[in-house]
Amino acid sequence: MADPAECTIKVMCRFRPLNSSEVTRGDKYIPKFQGDETVVIGGKPYMFDRVFQSNTTQEQVYNACAQKIVKDVLEGYNGTIFAYGQTSSGKTHTMEVSYFEIYLDKIRDLLDVSKTNLSVHEDKNRVPYVKGCTERFVCSPEEVMDTIDEGKSNRHVAVTNMNEHSSRSHSIFLINVKQENTQTEQKLSGKLYLVDLAGSEKVSKTGAEGAVLDEAKNINKSLSSLGNVISALAEGTAYIPYRDSKMTRILQDSLGGNCRTTIVICCSPSSYNEAETKSTLMFGQRAK
Ligand code: ADP
Ligand code: MG
Repeated sequence: MADPAECTIKVMCRFRPLNSSEVTRGDKYIPKFQGDETVVIGGKPYMFDRVFQSNTTQEQVYNACAQKIVKDVLEGYNGTIFAYGQTSSGKTHTMEVSYFEIYLDKIRDLLDVSKTNLSVHEDKNRVPYVKGCTERFVCSPEEVMDTIDEGKSNRHVAVTNMNEHSSRSHSIFLINVKQENTQTEQKLSGKLYLVDLAGSEKVSKTGAEGAVLDEAKNINKSLSSLGNVISALAEGTAYIPYRDSKMTRILQDSLGGNCRTTIVICCSPSSYNEAETKSTLMFGQRAK
């Protein structure tokens, strides 16, 4: 049994294969792997709890990243799995799930599209939650998958360009697990957040104005406040700046104290994306 006071943050790093347009352009495959924990880019080593090479299967990633968290959630712990990386680096592919989303700091319910600006409240134990967000009672993995599909199709309906939209919003799927042992009447509850973050790439400053610039500032702000919270947790600092963004506020009780957190750092292996890949790897290193 795990120690309840222990807050574990694991950082894993996954490289996808070169895609066809990268191959066509003649990009080089730049990562060099050393064992299971180190990747070298441009001569500089980056170390993680685990590094996955491009040929790693979904099952291998699940076993290493999610299996333990899922087991702990069933034992009453809270957990969060994040996917971080530039657009097209494999975040959504890694999560397999894609509900509510945060776009321009507005929370939209993906199971009821009429709810477009939900607010964050605190319950009597001061645990933050999204007020009025649709909850579904599910009993089987099939029902979980159906719910995810429904959220996904709602996400598609509301936007004209899915790729652009998903690169600029965070999508958050919460699984609340409540169990009761009918013999002992013992109750257990745990939460699992699956967070597919907005693309981490720098939006070019030239030409970005109005709404696009607002988006860029918002993404930078929420990703950097997430980075600040995670590095404060990793360093064991007394003050954790949860209140700096809606996302960190919502995730507060799944990111500190009794928590299990895994961050999957997703990277393109292409020479074309070297600068973004390095900045993505640096984000992951801050959490260690
Ligand atoms: P993101 O969510 O980070 O923008 P996606 O997960 O949508 O990126 O991935 C972009 C494309 O690359 C998709 O077509 C996806 O199927 C493919 N892809 C991503 N990771 C892998 C991988 N590890 N193996 C094979 N294809 C991948
Ligand atoms: Mg995506």
